[in-house]
Amino acid sequence: PADADLDEVAARHRWEELAGEIRDHQFAYYVRDAPSVSDGEYDRLLRRLEALEDRYAALGLRTPDSPTQRVGGTFSTEFAAVEHVERMLSLDNAFSADDLGTWYERLRRDLDGASAGMHLLCELKIDGLAVALLYENGRLVRAATRGDGRTGEDVTLNVRTIEGIPHRLAGDDHPQLIEVRGEVFLPVEGFRAVNEAQVAAGKPPFANPRNTAAGSLRQKDPRVTASRPLRMYCHGIGALRWAGRGDVVDRQSQAYGLMAGWGLPVSGHSRVVDDLAEVQAMIDHYGEHRHDVEHEIDGIVVKVDEVALQRRLGATSRAPRWAIAFKYPPEEVNTRLLDIQVNV
Ligand code: NAD
Repeated sequence: PADADLDEVAARHRWEELAGEIRDHQFAYYVRDAPSVSDGEYDRLLRRLEALEDRYAALGLRTPDSPTQRVGGTFSTEFAAVEHVERMLSLDNAFSADDLGTWYERLRRDLDGASAGMHLLCELKIDGLAVALLYENGRLVRAATRGDGRTGEDVTLNVRTIEGIPHRLAGDDHPQLIEVRGEVFLPVEGFRAVNEAQVAAGKPPFANPRNTAAGSLRQKDPRVTASRPLRMYCHGIGALRWAGRGDVVDRQSQAYGLMAGWGLPVSGHSRVVDDLAEVQAMIDHYGEHRHDVEHEIDGIVVKVDEVALQRRLGATSRAPRWAIAFKYPPEEVNTRLLDIQVNV
């Protein structure tokens, strides 16, 4: 295997090299919105760093600031920094049915008998960028990117231009404060339209919807953002303060009903299932029909649906233990881009 039989100096050196390379890629991806390598290659580097940390565990390479232990990267950007009320985490990955099985068994072991009757919520993993919307008494007061999970970038004005994101929640029964998390993305059709306009204006087309969405949202001039057909689907709740209410919902799937009632956009593709076989059926289905969805997906996210169990399982420094992202094998060649170049 790679990185076997290194002495201490060489192992430390390899770690520095790999971690440095990963941080450079993070800067290109999160700050410049222009990745320097494919997602598949990035994931491979991260797994290699993880394996190195395991192999040389005695050297204590896995420090809290290792890229394997952190959400995104910490970079200062042109945007004002904002603190999230509650931390925004990433997701652990599964690359095979085996990985998924290991996650599920561990979960059931940790929950002991409490996992009886547990449900799994399966959602499409939207290939966009994570955004947190802060509503106070039903009004959108702030929107921020995920950043390093604690501190994100203030993109409020830009997010206000996105169709479908309410500036005020519908109805009149709202929490005093709610952090709504979700994914901002460019629908496949919207991406096509943006690229046709680029080409018509004599400019080079963009490479893929994810980075175009990130680049479109992270604009200094909100008018540019407004000219791009971005959308958002909400997929979680962070901080919640609602006087006189205890747990507002028992199940995450019910939270989506609540959010939809307030006029927040939620995906129509989520499913609640009872076991891993049904999860696998959804993975297989969208593996085949990945391009029938209105936006790009890079996997299926599986979440424990019961909020009480989520709380019991908790989170590591970078991801909740109650959720996992099954990732489809990367599609590296950008056939859509080629389509456009041929068509116009
Ligand atoms: P991730 O993309 O593997 O998963 C976490 C994110 O998934 C969440 O933050 C959330 O925003 C998103 N998500 C989408 N649909 C969701 C749903 N239904 N429910 C919950 N969350 C959902 O991890 P990450 O930390 O955001 O980013 C790491 C990934 O980004 C890498 O695996 C790689 O694919 C890509 N990346 C690529 C480069 C590169 O250089 N090419 C660099 C950095 C990151």
